[in-house]
Amino acid sequence: MQTPQATGAHYAEFYRRSIEDRDAFWREQAQLIDWHTPFTTVCEYGKPPFANWFVGGTTNLCHNAVDRHLATRAGQNALVFVSTETDEERVYSFRELHAEVQRMAAALKTLGVKKGDRVLVYMPMIPEAAFAMLACARIGALHSVVFGGFASVSLASRIDDADPVVIVSADAGSRGGKVVPYKPLLDEAIRLSSHKPAKVLMVDRGLVAFERVAGRDEDWASLRQRHLDEPVPCEWVEATHPSYTLYTSGTTGRPKGVQRDTGGYAVALAASMKHIFCGRAGETYFSTSDIGWVVGHSYIVYGPLIAGMATIMYEGLPIRPDAAIWWSLVEKYKVTVMFSAPTAVRVLKKHDPAALTRHDLSSLRTLFLAGEPLDEPTARWIADALKKPIIDNYWQTETGWPILTLCNGIEPQRAKFGSPGRAVFGYDVKLIDEATGQELTGANQKGVLAIEGPLPPGCMQTVWRDDARFVETYWKTIPGRMVYSTFDWGIRDEEGYYFILGRTDDVINVAGHRLGTREIEESIASHPNVAEVAVVGVADTLKGQVAMAFAVLKDGAKAATPELALKHEGEIMKLVDEQLGAVARPARVRFVTVLPKTRSGKLLRRAIQAVCEQRDPGDLTTIEDPSALQQIVKLVSPAA
Ligand code: AMP
Repeated sequence: MQTPQATGAHYAEFYRRSIEDRDAFWREQAQLIDWHTPFTTVCEYGKPPFANWFVGGTTNLCHNAVDRHLATRAGQNALVFVSTETDEERVYSFRELHAEVQRMAAALKTLGVKKGDRVLVYMPMIPEAAFAMLACARIGALHSVVFGGFASVSLASRIDDADPVVIVSADAGSRGGKVVPYKPLLDEAIRLSSHKPAKVLMVDRGLVAFERVAGRDEDWASLRQRHLDEPVPCEWVEATHPSYTLYTSGTTGRPKGVQRDTGGYAVALAASMKHIFCGRAGETYFSTSDIGWVVGHSYIVYGPLIAGMATIMYEGLPIRPDAAIWWSLVEKYKVTVMFSAPTAVRVLKKHDPAALTRHDLSSLRTLFLAGEPLDEPTARWIADALKKPIIDNYWQTETGWPILTLCNGIEPQRAKFGSPGRAVFGYDVKLIDEATGQELTGANQKGVLAIEGPLPPGCMQTVWRDDARFVETYWKTIPGRMVYSTFDWGIRDEEGYYFILGRTDDVINVAGHRLGTREIEESIASHPNVAEVAVVGVADTLKGQVAMAFAVLKDGAKAATPELALKHEGEIMKLVDEQLGAVARPARVRFVTVLPKTRSGKLLRRAIQAVCEQRDPGDLTTIEDPSALQQIVKLVSPAA
């Protein structure tokens, strides 16, 4: 039999229904998960931009990820933990995962956590982190996972905003064979924050000794022992009940708590596992991200488990002990779907491609990449090395699942280098002229990538405890119309494929990690000798972008010689490391006597960025002091 030629028409019809016959479409998708009480309304959108999905229904994320699989696959792998840092490998079946999650849920309840309370998770990539997330979902508490690479000041601001009853943490993580203690950073963060959690639940991996605060710090191993066989039933929550908050950076220095619901999220993930990732129950999914990021939430923990797949949690580097490590896991656990980031591929690219195929990769169907632009050389290199289809997907912490990609589960579609693909079902994607607010309907026109409300299921409900900020930040940036702005520029070709052209705001993307330049600036400005600073993202062949800082010292003479400048650069980097974490550390700090600003005092970040990337800085008619940019030109010129 001949395979029909994929024209895209079948997907186009699927997509059209998701927008034009929205409720019927999502009612069908909702059958992919278990409901305790059926919903009565698919989408309530009476108060735009606030969308309520599956109103009247009750369900539970943990039930859908774990319990519902017990009847058919209790003995199958659910969670595979591999650490090349501590040489551990632990495999949990669905039955075992169910038991561990109940123990964690019982422990959290004993520590006073109730439905609606927040639990902050500050953990390395160990199974207990997933247990904690699932346990929260089980009892209707909200988790707020903070990436383990963030340091005390970043953590403190998140503690204050999330207001957690309990913090779950561990003695240490490990990176490249080096132990990274967590507890001192956590203690310092709690000291800095005005909100003090009642309890800290510590997972002691035995990596490093740590101090315990009497009356506050509890030990996971002993609590686990006390609750070994305690059943903790799933709390049936409203579909609209928030499941978690996850902080992300924007234009201002204060991170936003992205709040997600329960029912819509479960349905969206189940639909994405089927139609985008094409993962099947009983198979293994391997996402190389970290639980501290949205990919870790959606596609290490919830998505694969909801689909009845085993999920791999990997602690370690992609090239240690060698560049074959990930691929040896593909062979060993018969991974069918893999998800990583272009940065990781660029790291692998420095190694012999033969390392990737030393192992049997026959189980692997597709490698998905996301989180940052996928450049053509990187895409070609990995496609050639693996001889497998590579699929780019574009989305954000805010959306929780892909906005643009190829939904090959509906119909195999041709990939185009440089494009993540077409609009995903449910997303009414538009390109908008920033100045006029008009929709750009023609091909190859550049505009702001926006989404017409309601956002589909699974996307953010609001900014945690700040509805006004949700509306102001995302829905009011384009003149004359209320659409959700992604803050990315894009174009669409005549076949409906989108190309992402970079952020419209001051967010930068370092190795797939989203950082606000203002956050870094605020940290640097807290240095006693820094009068003013500008941070910009500069193109980098390995990390996509790196942060570069230009600082004005209070006493310019302090950076008068190269030695003094180096000393100050070192101090500033250390300060950022201590406050925000090494992820936010600028790659370079350079000193100037004045920063380029407009006459009204606005920093000309785009001009600085252009100069750093050896591009034309554009229109400079509003610049107050042209010599300011000249200083930067001199500092970054290849001869400097
Ligand atoms: P995050 O919220 O950390 O996932 O970051 C989201 C941002 O990362 C987006 O707004 C884009 O700027 C960028 N991004 C994510 N995925 C892609 C992709 N596939 N191609 C280009 N940019 C991407």
